[in-house]
Amino acid sequence: MKRKNQIRKRIIELIEQANITAREGNIEIAREYIKLAVMYSRKGRVKIPLKYKRMFCRRCFTPLIPGLTERIRIRSKILIRTCLICNWQRRYVVTRNKGINKKSHS
Ligand SMILES: [Zn+2]
Repeated sequence: MKRKNQIRKRIIELIEQANITAREGNIEIAREYIKLAVMYSRKGRVKIPLKYKRMFCRRCFTPLIPGLTERIRIRSKILIRTCLICNWQRRYVVTRNKGINKKSHS
């Protein structure tokens, strides 16, 4: 178990480093960091925490940074994230505790 925690820590570090690198404009290098993180995850059988999993494109491994490598659109409670590198799209249902159960007046 201890080993897995170490791998997870390494994965998180790599993803964070990838984000910084991508922001600096080195997208190619950033992708290598992500690829490495994914490889650690597979080899070590360690799951990437969801928060970090959502930080990169699962098709081309580019860190997703809004306005740089990612476009975010919200359309009637659906969040659409598009990778600007490979056009990969992912949809999320936006759930909020407030205002979700609004009664319709008709
Ligand atoms: Zn992509």
